[in-house]
Amino acid sequence: MSTAPVVLVTGGAGYIGSHTLIALHEAGYAPVVVDNLDNASLRAIERVRALTQAQIPFHQVDLRDGPALSQVVAQHQPQACIHFAGLKAVGESVAQPLRYYHNNLLGTMELLRVLEEAECFHMVFSSSATVYGDAQEMPLTEDVPLSATNPYGRTKLFIEHMLFDVAAAQKRWRCMNLRYFNPVGAHPSGQIGEDPSGIPNNLMPFITQVAVGRRPHLQIFGDDYSTPDGTGVRDYIHVVDLAKAHVAALAALPKITGCEAVNVGTGRGSSVLEVLRAMEAASGRAIPYQVAPRRAGDVAVSYADPSKAQRLLGWQAEHDLTAMCQDAWRWQEQNPQGYAG
Ligand code: NAD
Ligand code: UDP
Repeated sequence: MSTAPVVLVTGGAGYIGSHTLIALHEAGYAPVVVDNLDNASLRAIERVRALTQAQIPFHQVDLRDGPALSQVVAQHQPQACIHFAGLKAVGESVAQPLRYYHNNLLGTMELLRVLEEAECFHMVFSSSATVYGDAQEMPLTEDVPLSATNPYGRTKLFIEHMLFDVAAAQKRWRCMNLRYFNPVGAHPSGQIGEDPSGIPNNLMPFITQVAVGRRPHLQIFGDDYSTPDGTGVRDYIHVVDLAKAHVAALAALPKITGCEAVNVGTGRGSSVLEVLRAMEAASGRAIPYQVAPRRAGDVAVSYADPSKAQRLLGWQAEHDLTAMCQDAWRWQEQNPQGYAG
């Protein structure tokens, strides 16, 4: 029987989760996936199994289904949990706040209850730079006061508080709230990647869909920000680097007490036009665009101070924007319709 530490991965069929399964496997962990497939395809799991040559267990379970979740936990007895599962579209969360609160908050509460019952007290949680609200001072450090500007962001903020509270009440808890900046790119095999349903909200999948001919042009939301070229600046992080940050966070849990929040970014900002030019170079295709009004709720600039991740996790990003675009493009070109193709 394998002695690899078992890690429960909620939302493991999704974009970041599927990449993290590979990083976990490579680092000698035995991941077990729980996902309700609300925003994912079983093909992602099949492809991860093919890439890793590992029979990664998969359970189609909704986190809010306590008895089913308990059964999975009793069967596999994980030592730790990486909690990706949740709904993540900002605009949708404004239109359907109760759906977001129900899914993200109740799902997490049920998960924590089941894990406590099984005495599994190690948790890495997918938080987001969205918890910095519209903070202006850059780079963003973990000490910037937290706030939220939409229901999605409020679920992230509330779950961070939840984890601090459970860790204060039960000293065996160790939690790492990883605050992701802008995850992009794909596994270099081109076998797994981001597969948004419907019209992509985020810049990178929209750009690759234009490049592959699925959409006529990109709309650039504002070119009158006070940034070097007028377009919005973000800290894009390669999903493979992000996946490795989860492995580093798991390994660091025993040396922390309670709960820690850690930024996961490169520390470098790129503008919309820079990303567009980098994708043109990666794909060898012209990417038409039109300038549109600013998108409500967008900040001009956001980038991380990633020094705490380096200090606490011994982690830093390795991929630059060129690699992010090359890998995102390989995935899109090989899978023009995503997993459905
Ligand atoms: P994703 O939608 O691809 O993955 C989330 C997965 O969770 C999906 O596979 C979905 O089916 C599953 N899921 C949702 N609700 C569930 C429930 N109640 N029970 C079981 N499974 C459920 O999203 P992603 O981009 O991989 O993001 C993963 C996490 O990282 C999310 O929590 C997201 O909020 C957070 N995050 C993402 C980004 C980003 O830009 N992608 C940025 C910051 C934070
Ligand atoms: N953006 C854009 N057109 C799009 C999608 C995004 O110009 O179709 C811009 C957006 O205004 C922001 C940047 O690209 O400046 C990154 O947006 P994304 O939604 O990917 O990330 P977030 O705004 O959540 O950081």
